[in-house]
Amino acid sequence: VTPDAFVLAAGRVITCDDSLGRGPLGAFDDGAIFVERGRVAAVGPRADVLARAQGAPLVDDRPGGLLSPGLVDAHTHAAWAGSRHDEYAMRLAGEGYEAIAAAGGGIVSTMRAVRGAGPGELARALRARLGRMARQGVTTVEVKSGYGLDEASERAQLEAAADASTDASLPRVVPTYLALHALPPEAKADRARYVDDVVRRWLPAIARAGLARYVDAYVDRNAFRVDEAEALFDAARTLGLGTRAHAGQFADVGAAELAARFSAASADHLENVSDAGLDALARAGTAAVLLPVASWTLAQAPPPVEAMRRAGVRLVVASDANPGTAPTESLPLAMAFAARSYGLLDHEIWRGVTVEAARALGLEGEAGVLREGARADLALWLLPHERALLQPWGAPPLAAAYRDGVRLGADP
Ligand SMILES: [Zn+2]
Repeated sequence: VTPDAFVLAAGRVITCDDSLGRGPLGAFDDGAIFVERGRVAAVGPRADVLARAQGAPLVDDRPGGLLSPGLVDAHTHAAWAGSRHDEYAMRLAGEGYEAIAAAGGGIVSTMRAVRGAGPGELARALRARLGRMARQGVTTVEVKSGYGLDEASERAQLEAAADASTDASLPRVVPTYLALHALPPEAKADRARYVDDVVRRWLPAIARAGLARYVDAYVDRNAFRVDEAEALFDAARTLGLGTRAHAGQFADVGAAELAARFSAASADHLENVSDAGLDALARAGTAAVLLPVASWTLAQAPPPVEAMRRAGVRLVVASDANPGTAPTESLPLAMAFAARSYGLLDHEIWRGVTVEAARALGLEGEAGVLREGARADLALWLLPHERALLQPWGAPPLAAAYRDGVRLGADP
C-alpha cells in the first residue's frame, strides 16, 4: 500500500451503486472503505475491506455512524456578493417575486453587488461559502455566474470559481456560465443586441479562456425566450460546452423540450412542465434538477414528481444556493424539503444528491458513488442511518468530508 492509503469504517455504508444487488443505495451494515492515491481501492463489508487493505491504517471507525459518497450540489449560484434581506422583508409584507424584480430588486440588486465587489471579494466570498458547504458533507459544487450581466463581471464570477477550484481543501467546483439570466438595466432598450453580445462575443471568449464547462439559460415568461436560448445553445455546442436550463419555474414556455433537443445535462426547476416535456427529457437522458428550497421560499406548488417518475426522468436534488429565492448553503436542507414538500422517497433523494447529481455534472463514475476506481469523495456522518439526514433536518452532524482522499476544511 502507498503511504497515503487509509481505511474508514462505519456501522452503515451507502455506496449509491445500484448494481450491487443491495437496493438502490447499495447499502452495507458494518462496512468500510479503503482509499489509496485519492481513489476508492475497495468498499464493502468491513472484514473484506480490511483484508484488501493490507495494513493501511484505520483512521476513523464509527460503529454508530454512516459513510456515504460526498454530496454533489448540482445547481448553485454560490459566487454572489451582497445580501437581499431587505427584499425578503418586502416579500413578507406581501410583494411577489416578479413585482420585486420589476422594482429593481431580485437578480438586478445582486448584479449591483457583484459589479461593485472589490478585487478578490468574490473569490473570498465563494471560498468561505464552499468551506461551509464542505462542513455539510458536500464535496462537489456546480457554481454559476449570472449576476454580473456584463462581460467583465460575468468573467469575474467565473474567475472566482476558477480560483476556488485550485484549492484542494474545498469541494470540487464545476463552473457554469449562466449566460442568459436577466437583462441588465442598460440593455433594456436593445434586448436583441444584448443576446447577440452574449452569444457572439462573451460566450466564445469565456469558452476560449476555459472558464466554463456548461452554459445555462433562464427560460421563462419573464426571462428569456426559447429562440434566444436556442441561439445560445447552438453556439455552446459549437464551442464544445455542455448546456443546462432553468426551465418552467413560473410558466411552461417549452424550455424542457428545448433542453431535450440539445441533450442538455439538466433542466432545472420544472414546477411547470407538460407530460410531453417530461417524455422528451427522459428520452434525451436530460436530468430534472429539483430545487425544493426555491419553490418553498416562493410558496409554489411542487413540480409534478409523480409524472416525472412515470416518464422515467432522472431526478436530481440541489440547493439552488442564491441570495434571493433559495437563501441557504445547505444541500441537506434541500434534501429534507425534497422529502417533506415534494414527497420524494429517501433513496430518490440520496441518489439525487450523489450518483445522479454527479452524472448531471459530467462526473459519472467519478464522483457521487463509492465504487472501486472512483474518486475518494466521502462524507462520514455522526448519524445512524441515511434516513437520519432527512429527519431531523438542516444541520446534520458530520465527522469528516474527504475530496480525492484529502480531508476537507478544519475539524468540525
Ligand atoms: Zn438557479
